[in-house]
Amino acid sequence: MKDPSLQQRFASRDPIFSIEFFPPKSDAAAEQLLETAGEMQAYAPDFASITYGAGGSTRSRTLKYARQLVADYDYTVMPHLTCVGHSREELISIVREFKDAGLRQIMALRGDPPKGETDFKPHPQGLHHANELVELIREHFDECAIGVGGYPEKHLEAPSFEADLLNLKRKVEAGAHFITTQLFFDNSRYFTFVEAARAIGIDVPILPGLMTAASLPQAQRFCEMGGSFLPPELADALKAAAHDTERGAEIGLEWSFQQARELLEKGAPGLHLYILNRTKPAASLMERLKSAGFYQS
Ligand SMILES: Cc1cc2nc3c(=O)[nH]c(=O)nc-3n(C[C@H](O)[C@H](O)[C@H](O)COP(=O)(O)OP(=O)(O)OC[C@H]3O[C@@H](n4cnc5c(N)ncnc54)[C@H](O)[C@@H]3O)c2cc1C
Repeated sequence: MKDPSLQQRFASRDPIFSIEFFPPKSDAAAEQLLETAGEMQAYAPDFASITYGAGGSTRSRTLKYARQLVADYDYTVMPHLTCVGHSREELISIVREFKDAGLRQIMALRGDPPKGETDFKPHPQGLHHANELVELIREHFDECAIGVGGYPEKHLEAPSFEADLLNLKRKVEAGAHFITTQLFFDNSRYFTFVEAARAIGIDVPILPGLMTAASLPQAQRFCEMGGSFLPPELADALKAAAHDTERGAEIGLEWSFQQARELLEKGAPGLHLYILNRTKPAASLMERLKSAGFYQS
């Protein structure tokens, strides 16, 4: 389903469904992304986001695939944008490129330090934090819907959960329209985060980000990268299926189905799936959710 305004879509009572792609680096990977884009149309995502990596080539690749997803697959596309390595002027010109390409929603992020570096170092003429990027987008592209990242289990660099929440509030006060969360495997972390956010006046939708883990090493890698808790029940079940790929995939799917079901039942505004450019297991999850009465069209 396509909607002219993402804000209106968030305001409706039907749960949002969105998926996240990353720009491919090889022809084979590009083919996989496009095949997935075609197959996922069946589930009518409200929008597809496409990430923005560190380094110069990413700008053109993010924009290239964002354009293609719109032109060939009719997706509502939300390119991500990070402050890494860009001056303020460069960021303004990228925002203009997105605008000229007809993209009317942006995920505004600070970004991670480039590979091999541990601390984020802003460009000498650049921005320090995502709230500044939100302000800049608002200044130059006011009609744009802006998403920002949120961390139910605290951003890795933040001194405390409370300090991180106050920084999240800055992004909302700067004009962000919604928050998409880092992936998590324990729903209680999301519910606590939403409650704490509401208590300090963060009133925009908080879209939970989910990823289906197909193996223990994969789940561990993602939890380590994002600082997410890996529940022992999930870790043990995946470990027991270490030599059975199919069983591992089933365990991961069942876990994310139970997560998704509870999130939707308890009022989450929808689901954002980190699909890693693959149709499965996202399509299987959507099938199960539909059978359970969610996302009926
Ligand atoms: C939904 C989602 C999508 C993502 N997509 C991408 C992507 O496409 N490309 C990519 O490279 N990375 C991506 N990331 C990862 C993200 O770039 C990293 O987590 C990064 O380290 C922080 O980005 P941020 O926008 O949350 O930064 P910020 O909001 O700037 O926060 C970074 C840290 O600084 C603190 N902070 C924030 N504002 C202030 C302030 N004004 N003063 C002092 N401290 C402050 C925060 O508490 C936090 O610890 C994504 C993350 C999420 C959740």
